[in-house]
Amino acid sequence: MALKLKIIEDTVLKQKPIDSSQLADNDKQSIPQGTELELHSWAFLEEDNAHVRVAFAQDSFKDRNTWLVFKGHIQIVEGDRMVLLETPPVVPIISLMVREVTSCSTSIVRGLDMQIIAEMNILIPNVLVSFEDLNVRLEPAVWPLLQLPAKRGLERAIQERGIQMQINSAYRTIAQQLILFNHFQNRRCGISLAARPPRSNHQSGLAIDISDNQGWRPFLERWGWRWLGPNDAVHFDFVGGGTRDIRPVAVRAFQRLWNKHNISDRLVIDGAYGSDTERGLNSSPVEGFDISILNFRVLRLSRPFMQGEDVRLVQQALLEAGFPIEVDGIYGPGTQTAIRIFQSRQDLVDDGIVGSATLAELGVEKVQSI
Ligand SMILES: [Zn+2]
Repeated sequence: MALKLKIIEDTVLKQKPIDSSQLADNDKQSIPQGTELELHSWAFLEEDNAHVRVAFAQDSFKDRNTWLVFKGHIQIVEGDRMVLLETPPVVPIISLMVREVTSCSTSIVRGLDMQIIAEMNILIPNVLVSFEDLNVRLEPAVWPLLQLPAKRGLERAIQERGIQMQINSAYRTIAQQLILFNHFQNRRCGISLAARPPRSNHQSGLAIDISDNQGWRPFLERWGWRWLGPNDAVHFDFVGGGTRDIRPVAVRAFQRLWNKHNISDRLVIDGAYGSDTERGLNSSPVEGFDISILNFRVLRLSRPFMQGEDVRLVQQALLEAGFPIEVDGIYGPGTQTAIRIFQSRQDLVDDGIVGSATLAELGVEKVQSI
């Protein structure tokens, strides 16, 4: 009676029981859901509870017929008898969207903030620089970021006075600002006024809120900073020149970030903060977008068809390149044909297999981390 391995979820065969991202290409092999392979034998691993060792009767990958595979992705059957079936415990992923944030601190959105700031720096390198190296003490939720001329002015003022400056707010991302704006609209956290992003001057990279404002005022004013006045006594703006309006850059950065992760619900990338952009920002996960979907497999026509976000991104790029294909996340014959035509146009080997060369030509970014 034949012993069979059934792949019930897209998986990766591995040579070691560790995360596949840490394995060399030669030590791993992607296998799509639905694949069935005849086994010679299989065994539990003593050292690891999550994987089993399988030896294939006929198949081999990368010249090896013995591999490890995650138990939760497979079934092993003998004839019609289930030999091994293990459903992994479902780990609930609790993800909060920006609009659901009720806590008063904006530090909850730090993951998303980092992705937006990283994207801003892709658009304009060093658009914001850190001033953490200055003699400052920072509140935990503060992003110690300013435009460079503002940092230089701050540095001189702090040097001149010769004491540490307590900073309670500096750069605020549009995600943080939207949380504050939502609090204001819902009368939470005692916020009596908050601008809609990106209108707050804390989105300019030219603003700080500090303690001991009158003590600092003469020093800051000598170096390009202006006190806002008694209505907002903690607040100073840098007016010394050599700066730019970066608020549309933040919006554009978010629109790009959103589109990378929501290919069927794309925003117009125009740097303008309209209702669609606000809806997107409100619907974004506070911990940031899952970047694992951007770990591309090598895509090819297979049985059953490969499916997933990586396929969708490739299809979207084909569509934008003028191929009238359906963006359904399934690598079927139509997608393969489009890829082959695209490849021959780009002087690539027209094998219908999407590896890194084809991805690069398609302009699909292969982001591994931020
Ligand atoms: Zn302020």
